[in-house]
Amino acid sequence: MTEQPPPPFEPVDEDWQTALAIVAHPDDMEYGAAAAVARWTAQGKTVVYVMVTSGEAGIDGMDPEQCRAVREQEQIASAAIVGVDVVEFLGHPDGVIEYGLPLRRDIARAVRRHRPDIVITTNFRDTYGGVFPNQADHIAVGRATLDGVRDAGNRWVFRELVAEGHEPWDGVRQVWAAASPDGRHAVDTTEHFDAGVASLEAHRAYLDGLGEGPMSDAAGFLESMSRATGTRLGVRYASSFEVIPLR
Ligand SMILES: [Zn+2]
Repeated sequence: MTEQPPPPFEPVDEDWQTALAIVAHPDDMEYGAAAAVARWTAQGKTVVYVMVTSGEAGIDGMDPEQCRAVREQEQIASAAIVGVDVVEFLGHPDGVIEYGLPLRRDIARAVRRHRPDIVITTNFRDTYGGVFPNQADHIAVGRATLDGVRDAGNRWVFRELVAEGHEPWDGVRQVWAAASPDGRHAVDTTEHFDAGVASLEAHRAYLDGLGEGPMSDAAGFLESMSRATGTRLGVRYASSFEVIPLR
């Protein structure tokens, strides 16, 4: 029996102006999606990052309160490399994010404030396509992002947001989950691959804290991931997304 190659990816829609990326941790965008962000900001689009946590539980040898400041600074520097000037931190607890109404409300508030066309999050499926399980925070944030985007458009959900001055925003056309095993779309990142690597390498304290392994080799990890994705799009390097339409 011959093994079938995976099906080709379709290009994502790039006819938009503003995207809001909502992810659990500093470094989540950089493991595959940051090169695509570099492409979009180079096109003149605006991309804003919202981090649900500050990644304060991410370095075994560093106390969380010290780690929080280090990782926030690394994320801000990393984002700047791919043309993102606004990075916000929602302050939920790293490693133990709860899917629930407080998270949905915070996400809805961010969507109403930034009024994006596209919302980006990371894979919220149970695995990355093999047996290796996804992390609980990623699943909680991805699910809450889908729901919070809907909540942002409904005046009668989280009424306190209107009282705060945040009018409903129902302009989000699609939510894109990066590196999902259910991804069917991708974007050519060949011209921005190096910026993507540099943005991951900006998480220096985090990468050093990982020790030896595939996740700490920024260039090697992104090379193999982006090349495999690029092959399915017919280009050298690419980033993949699961596209969830909302309208
Ligand atoms: Zn993460």
